[in-house]
Amino acid sequence: MALPDSVQFLKGVGPRRGAMLEKAGLATFEDLLFHLPFRYEDRRRILTLREASPGGEATLAGKVTAVREHRRPGRRGSILHALFTDESGWAELLWFQQAAYFRDRLKGGPLWLVHGRVEAAPRGGLQIVHPEIEMLAANAAEPSGADVQRLASSMARILPVYQKPGEIPVAAMRRIVGQVTEKYASSALSAVPPAVRARVKLVAVCDALRYLHDPPVDADIDALNESATPAHRSLIFEELFALQVGMTLRKVERESQPGLRIERADDRLRAFFATLPFELTRAQKRVVHEIAADMARSQPMNRLVQGDVGSGKTVVAFAAALQAIAAGYQVAVMAPTELLAEQHFSTMRVWAEAEKIDIRLLTGSFKAAAAREVREAVASGHTDLVIGTHALIQESTGFARLGLAVIDEQHRFGVAQRQVIQTAALGADGRKGARADTLLLSATPIPRTLSLTLYGDIDVSVLDELPKGRLPIVTRVIRTTARPRLYQRMAAAMREGRQCYVVYPLVEESEAMDLADATSMAEQLQQGPFRDFRVGLLHGRMKAAEKDAVMRRFKAAELDVLVATTVIEVGIDVANATIMVIEHAERFGLAQMHQLRGRVGRGSRESFCCLVADVGQSVESFERLRVMESTGDGFAIAEADLKLRGPGEYLGTRQSGTPALRAANLVRDGELLAHARTEALSWLAHDPTLEKAESAELRRVLSARWEGLLDLAEVG
Ligand code: ADP
Ligand code: MG
Repeated sequence: MALPDSVQFLKGVGPRRGAMLEKAGLATFEDLLFHLPFRYEDRRRILTLREASPGGEATLAGKVTAVREHRRPGRRGSILHALFTDESGWAELLWFQQAAYFRDRLKGGPLWLVHGRVEAAPRGGLQIVHPEIEMLAANAAEPSGADVQRLASSMARILPVYQKPGEIPVAAMRRIVGQVTEKYASSALSAVPPAVRARVKLVAVCDALRYLHDPPVDADIDALNESATPAHRSLIFEELFALQVGMTLRKVERESQPGLRIERADDRLRAFFATLPFELTRAQKRVVHEIAADMARSQPMNRLVQGDVGSGKTVVAFAAALQAIAAGYQVAVMAPTELLAEQHFSTMRVWAEAEKIDIRLLTGSFKAAAAREVREAVASGHTDLVIGTHALIQESTGFARLGLAVIDEQHRFGVAQRQVIQTAALGADGRKGARADTLLLSATPIPRTLSLTLYGDIDVSVLDELPKGRLPIVTRVIRTTARPRLYQRMAAAMREGRQCYVVYPLVEESEAMDLADATSMAEQLQQGPFRDFRVGLLHGRMKAAEKDAVMRRFKAAELDVLVATTVIEVGIDVANATIMVIEHAERFGLAQMHQLRGRVGRGSRESFCCLVADVGQSVESFERLRVMESTGDGFAIAEADLKLRGPGEYLGTRQSGTPALRAANLVRDGELLAHARTEALSWLAHDPTLEKAESAELRRVLSARWEGLLDLAEVG
């Protein structure tokens, strides 16, 4: 099968367009084949100008005359005007770009098929700006209206519209994809074995591709536009089926590796819980039990704990650590930022010391000698529990007997990093190569449809309950004009000793976007409304040590206001902070704002979250923010975010370790996903190692698409 060839060798694609295609993820013929149109244009009905209503798209047939080009005063390039007439009227065609190119093209006329948005011209009459044009006939000697219509209807069709990579025009994309479809659609492989195809009634992949790239004239255009044709359904099923098979194989592969049986230490855990000033929630108890049982199995654990901000993941993670340490193993806890690692360290140190556990911290800002000392204590086995950042894995930290790796805010780490820590070698008990258990923590609730896709190979525990007595955070969307009142309210809270956050989306002023940035706003707030208070600044460009110093001062209440970028998003815990202001809220995702909001409401006082949105923003984006007012449930917010913004934030190879989806849309295709999963599991029950002849294509699809993500050799 010759599909992976580079797109550069296609007609109409040179190095420049090749690079644009590649940048858009369309590097191979196969990528182009599966680059499906995102909508279709109906060019089957030719309208007359009298029928075409201003504001709507129309396909028209008629004569183009009186072409004239004129310079734009003081600007580069020129404007091209042309007069378009059909039997019912006239309209002006306008090109503000590529005037010379179209002037030459129009010399070929005079009869044209013209497609575009018909608008009322500023000085009366109709106009079409940047129409697409297709020559109907050259040098026709005054044909009758009927002739024109007859000619035009021979060209009637449904045209695919593609997402444009870079500057490549729509028409060129059509030609490029058209070539590939014509030559290679027949060699596209199917992931779904014949028996399953027949049962699910799938259209053959090559037929589906041809249908979608070049729909027949009688196709149902609404079904095409809603991705609801049998061809769509078939390709979506194909993709989800392969995904589920890949996920399941990966899980099987992992489970077939030797792991550690870490005996339960229920009494020790119970004694530890008894020392806490609170009782665990039911959800915490359930999840602790799930983890404990999983660790006690001889297969390596790979479990994700999903819990909303404040649901109490830290103590759950510590309980898991305690079980491993009680069984004589070491535990590593990895956090994405130094601040967070330090926070975990200071929380866990109290518990560890009471449990006679040797606990250490290791971050990137440690001096060489200090880092070496920690590494030695870890390597010698003296340290039971080490907490740190990437530094834990960057230089070879040798563990004497690593039994459990806890990864906090796991989505912040790349797949590769997660794998490094997961496979950190074990030596002490002579079982080199045995895999340590891993526990992933995430405060980003993932909608259920997505978690099946993202985590088909991971076991998930959900902390779906907040500790009792938490007051809900009062959330309000306000306009920028209401800022003065907001500042008064903040000042009042600060005079009572409370603290506030103000979060901005950018670090430095950007002329292009004219957004107030954290740095200059910190200054303005300090000079102006908060001149009686202490304003601090925290952003991503600061050195780790500077950030750290600022954060410490805020924690110690030496600062009243912390102006920050989203670096504070992850896990910062300052119970005395009760107001979170998010500026330019319209630029944030809901899930991200939910994380930010979770920085307040950590103490016993009522907390507020203010989302400041630009008045100029559209009504929709204002409505979107209202979701934040109406719910504090992270899962509900994640669902809403998924519907509004699509799954892009969660998907993508880097984050999830799965191939990107091309035909499927997880918001829309939940049902098909469940169906594909059922079929995938039953196929694997029938052919667990994909060695039967019917699985040959599936195997090839997987090894091409899951390259580096799945070790098929190991499975087979
Ligand atoms: P997150 O899940 O966001 O990481 P943390 O583990 O930081 O949450 O917990 C948030 C706060 O709630 C901490 O101060 C922690 O001590 C406290 N906490 C955890 N579990 C409970 C509980 N069952 N009852 C009361 N407070 C709890
Ligand atoms: Mg946490």
